[in-house]
Parts: sequence; C-alpha cells; structure tokens
Amino acid sequence: MEWFDKVKSTVTKTAKFTKDKSTELYDITRMSFSINELENKIDKLFKNIGMLVYRDYEAGAEFSEDIDMLLKDIDAKYEEIAQIKEEINNIKNVSVCPSCKKTNPSDANFCLSCGEKLN
Ligand SMILES: [Zn+2]
Repeated sequence: MEWFDKVKSTVTKTAKFTKDKSTELYDITRMSFSINELENKIDKLFKNIGMLVYRDYEAGAEFSEDIDMLLKDIDAKYEEIAQIKEEINNIKNVSVCPSCKKTNPSDANFCLSCGEKLN
C-alpha cells in the first residue's frame, strides 16, 4: 500500500499546486472567518467564566489577589452606574420604587405602579 500512499500524496500536492489563486484566497478568507467566529465564542466563554466567578464572589467565595482586585473593580463600576442613574433620576425629577423599580414623580408618596410607600 506504500505505492498508493505515494501516489495519493503526489496527487494531493499537484492539486494544491494547480489550485488557482482566487480559490486559495477564498479558502483563506473562509478559514479566517472561522478563526474569528471561534475567537468570538472563546470571548463569550471567558465572559461566562467571569460572570460565574463574580457570582461566587458575591456569595462569599475567596479568590487570588489579582482576581479579587478585578472583582472589586467591577463593584466600583456598578457603584458608579448606580450614582449616575440616581443623578439622571434627580434631573428627570423622578424616584425609583424600591419594590418594583418603576419610576414615579419625586413628590409621589406611593408607587403608581405597585402601591409601595415611597420615601
Ligand atoms: Zn412599585
């Protein structure tokens, strides 16, 4: 069967050699697209890992110092978002219901959506 493998190899090499440039370019583009798609999937998996780690961190799990620093950085960003949201609500003159999270006029005593007492 060695002669057959040799013939097969020669045929493959010849086929590669005779492939025209546009087909090669098409193949490379298609393969680059596949790499891109796989890299996007890896990014999503990394993001999912991060979300699971953050969930465990919130539940009290402990991590190494460098991971802990990143988790605390996320906490700081969440805090910044909450402050900006509060500023927006102040500008819009609304308050957020602590129960259902709907916005109400800042002078409302009870939530217009669920009836919860507002501060
Ligand atoms: Zn409410």
